[in-house]
Amino acid sequence: MPRYRPVDPAQSFPALEERVLERWRERDVFHESIRRRQGAPPFVFYEGPPTANGPPGSHHVLSRVFKDVFPRFKTMRGHLVHRKAGWDCHGLPVELEIEKQLGFSSKEDIERYGVAEFNARCRESVLRYIDEWNRLTERIGFWIDTDQAYFTLDDDYVESVWWSLKQVHDRGLLTEGHKVVPYCPRCGTALSSHEVAQGYRDVVDPSIYVRFPLRDDPSVALLAWTTMPWTLVPHAAIAVDPDVTYVRARLGGDRLILAEALVERVLGEGAEIEERMPGAALLGLRYEPPFPYIDDYGPRGHTVLAGDFVSVEDGTGVVHTGAAFGEDDFRLATDNGLTIHNPVLGDGTFDSRTGPFAGLHVREADPRIIAALRESGRLFRSGEHEHAYPHCWRCDTPLIYYAKTSWYVRTTAVKDELLAANEAVRWYPDHIKHGRFGKWLENNVDWALSRERYWGTPLPIWRADDGEVVCVGSRRELRELGAEVPDDLHRPYVDEVTFERDGKTFRRVSDLIDVWWDSGCMPFAQWHAPFENEEVFEQRFPADYICEALDQTRGWFYSLLAVSTLLYGRASSKTVLCLGLILDPDGQKMSKSKGNVVVPWDVLDTHGADAFRWYYFTSKQPWDGYRFSLETVGESVRQFLKTLWNTYGFFVLYANLGERAPAEPNDLDRWVLSRLSGTVERVTERMEDYDTTFAGRAIAAFVDDLSNWYVRRSRRRFWRGDTAAFDTLERCLVTVAKLLAPLTPFVADEIYDNLDGSEPSVHLCDFPEPGERDRKLEWQMRVARDAVELGRAARAQARVKVRQPLREAAVVAADREREAIERFEALVLDELNVKSLRYVSEADELGRFELKPNYRALGPRFGKHMPRVAAAIAALDPTNLRAGKRAGINLEGQEHAIGPDDVQMVLQPLEGYQVERSGTHAVALNLELDEELRREALAREVVHAVQVARRNAGLKVEDRITLSLGGDGELLDAARTHEAYLAGETLAIAVAYDGDDGAAAAEIEGRRLLIGVARRAGSS
Ligand SMILES: [Zn+2]
Repeated sequence: MPRYRPVDPAQSFPALEERVLERWRERDVFHESIRRRQGAPPFVFYEGPPTANGPPGSHHVLSRVFKDVFPRFKTMRGHLVHRKAGWDCHGLPVELEIEKQLGFSSKEDIERYGVAEFNARCRESVLRYIDEWNRLTERIGFWIDTDQAYFTLDDDYVESVWWSLKQVHDRGLLTEGHKVVPYCPRCGTALSSHEVAQGYRDVVDPSIYVRFPLRDDPSVALLAWTTMPWTLVPHAAIAVDPDVTYVRARLGGDRLILAEALVERVLGEGAEIEERMPGAALLGLRYEPPFPYIDDYGPRGHTVLAGDFVSVEDGTGVVHTGAAFGEDDFRLATDNGLTIHNPVLGDGTFDSRTGPFAGLHVREADPRIIAALRESGRLFRSGEHEHAYPHCWRCDTPLIYYAKTSWYVRTTAVKDELLAANEAVRWYPDHIKHGRFGKWLENNVDWALSRERYWGTPLPIWRADDGEVVCVGSRRELRELGAEVPDDLHRPYVDEVTFERDGKTFRRVSDLIDVWWDSGCMPFAQWHAPFENEEVFEQRFPADYICEALDQTRGWFYSLLAVSTLLYGRASSKTVLCLGLILDPDGQKMSKSKGNVVVPWDVLDTHGADAFRWYYFTSKQPWDGYRFSLETVGESVRQFLKTLWNTYGFFVLYANLGERAPAEPNDLDRWVLSRLSGTVERVTERMEDYDTTFAGRAIAAFVDDLSNWYVRRSRRRFWRGDTAAFDTLERCLVTVAKLLAPLTPFVADEIYDNLDGSEPSVHLCDFPEPGERDRKLEWQMRVARDAVELGRAARAQARVKVRQPLREAAVVAADREREAIERFEALVLDELNVKSLRYVSEADELGRFELKPNYRALGPRFGKHMPRVAAAIAALDPTNLRAGKRAGINLEGQEHAIGPDDVQMVLQPLEGYQVERSGTHAVALNLELDEELRREALAREVVHAVQVARRNAGLKVEDRITLSLGGDGELLDAARTHEAYLAGETLAIAVAYDGDDGAAAAEIEGRRLLIGVARRAGSS
């Protein structure tokens, strides 16, 4: 019975992970990890709720693994980390999906279909993909409590949201206002500024110049410019800048008033200036509006007004305003007491007051309006204009801006509090705090909260005919008002709820609220606080950590901050981690239409969840964004997971072989354990700073040292059953498993479970504490390894095979460095495959320094004189330049200073040596070979060939053999000379040189070797 489960070197990671998942389920590891921390100091995590009305993508895996890694880490560090899942269920995206299914194109379609029926479908659809989400969540190792998830559609959740709105209302911050709002005519609802920010696109609009003839002198016209002809139908007034110079210009039969600065741009060079005047002189002028359909704008309607928003950057400096259609227009109208008319209906069509345009969609009306202006002689010029214009982020319809009544949360009233709350938040990356997010807060506008839609949290405002409103904060309050509370708080049921007070009937205003408010309420609404679980909420507010994609600065990050600042005067999370975009390898956004989408299941089935996670955690800083493909994840398997797996497999293979021989730890053991302690320190420090990138890279660097140095340098000890080596490697692997547990939870658990297993899972262990460090030893090993690196590089340069022993290596090392290399001399000799080391204190002893010109530095200075400069430099004494001083050269009687940067110092080795240098370090190899060295090289080649033959014969590493060699006499001679070494390396009990039963043939430097290997009976 082997000590450990055998390890398959070709293990499929996806298959392994399925086994580990099974084990977690059986042992209920996730819940156990929480149970064991009962009473421990909490670490609070909030799940930003995704919507489950579409399948999860690779970018969801990114946020979900980052939501997993720090809670796992904090649990191992001794914290109680509850993780409650949540689902965002409301909003326009859900409605649009159903409209699409039903082939609807307007709100009338929904009303005709029935709101109850429509909402029932929405309710069904929001959780359509929840099983797939849950399956993916488990598969990627995201530990979150999906059994007790919160749903924003639950009446309890809705009631908590109502409570929050009532608090805001009681502070006078939830108000109804007549304001210009961005509005989607297709969806029939206003949008909030954070929604608008998501939908800018370049479009080509009409660009027209229109004449407004003066009442007193119709031969003169004001010339105005617009890209929205439809706003001319409800034209209210004209604005000019009183401080700007205007002109009356003649062009052909036209006499036009416009800003002087724009005359040439608009009228060309042929215009003749008749008169100049300040804008102030135009104020109060009356003129003819372009259309007669609406004309009662009050005393100052259809006159020239002073505007502070008039630009002379484009247009004419004469601004047409439609009063209801733009923030500046609206302000101008209000300031001047204009009557505001909005003849545009909720579906984006003109109402009956607009003559021939009634019933037309405003944008469809544009061509007809232009034609009508041309016919009436009002059109001066028409063309096209390309500009960025906001579109509905869901349905891609161009938005219109118009004045309407809607409900606002007056966030501008608490702007200073928002900024102060943000100051207390730690952002990763930190520039978001005062950059993207801080700027967003600086430019805060009131939160346009109401939506004239169907599927969402109803605005809990009831109103009487005389305008009195009651904001209702709970179901109980509604009951106390005498109303009957429906079983479902959504529309249409809530719309039927009325109550009487003071002889008046109160009916609910029909609006819903912005879905982002829902998600901003999750800190308390997920617990149905304050109606129940108030103490749970208090214990878990604010969060220690939240994490989402960067675009949530205008989404959830903002709504969380705004809601909690309004209610509690503070941010709801102490730390916010922002994740970057996922792009394809060419830097293109992934989209179905481009066909470059990577489906997460493909990654999981091909490479596994650990590889996926490792790629996201370590390939870059997560906010920098990823250029992502199936192949890039594969790299992380090859580079890291395979190295780890092979090292682990090596340990298990040899550990299962047999007896152990007691041994004392050596310097290599002490070194690797010190490195391990350093790694534990570094990983802990990085993870505490929410930095998986450098935590992961520190582990990878250690595993590389473990595999490519410690194990490689200790192979023979494992073969001998050296207990110190086994104990050391086991400790390293188990500790690495614990360090890796938050990052790659599957492979970590597998290694731990097989090698240690004292707990049901590595995820129930404490995070490792660093042990003792021997920094001197680490430094000394570093020096020795540097020397080995240089020696290997010299060998490669000289193209001498690694198996060819060399007589000597000369190493530049004085004092402490020499002491370091001497401590590991046996190791250095073996690595470099040299017979002896010689120490020299200066690189000069290994050769002669020659100076070569640095052409990049000198070329521009000397140009065609470079050949002579090069010769002069070669003749210089390198001593001064090596000491960092300057030297001089003479060129045609002129002295030129040459500094250390102007030259390259090349070390020319002594005859018969190859040298490699890095800074003050250098190693030279003596390349001279004699017969003895050649024979030893051949013997090593024979060993290698026999090892290959053993593998080809299907022998196990521990099988002993009898070996018979035949073929080339010189090879056999070399084998005979080094027979003990040959037998030891190949586990040969006996070596014969008859070569008759040579089953395999190998070729070594053109010589033929016959190799017969036979498993020695009884050996195992
Ligand atoms: Zn829309």
